Amino acid sequence: MSQGFYPPESGTWSCMACHCPLEEKAASITYLESSFHVTLLTCPQCGLVLVPEHLSMGKMFEVEKLLEDK
Ligand SMILES: [Zn+2]
Repeated sequence: MSQGFYPPESGTWSCMACHCPLEEKAASITYLESSFHVTLLTCPQCGLVLVPEHLSMGKMFEVEKLLEDK
């Protein structure tokens, strides 16, 4: 099991739908039969979850490569 923290790149993010400031929320992702703990930004009002592009694409690719190396 790996742990990671992926903060927003900069500034304060707000929900596109209701313009509410997003809150950090711990989450776990299951990928390739492994679980990863991450911190995602969520909207407390409407439940929107912001998944950073580097998490949904680039980081997962890196994680996949790391797993293959072992
Ligand atoms: Zn919202």
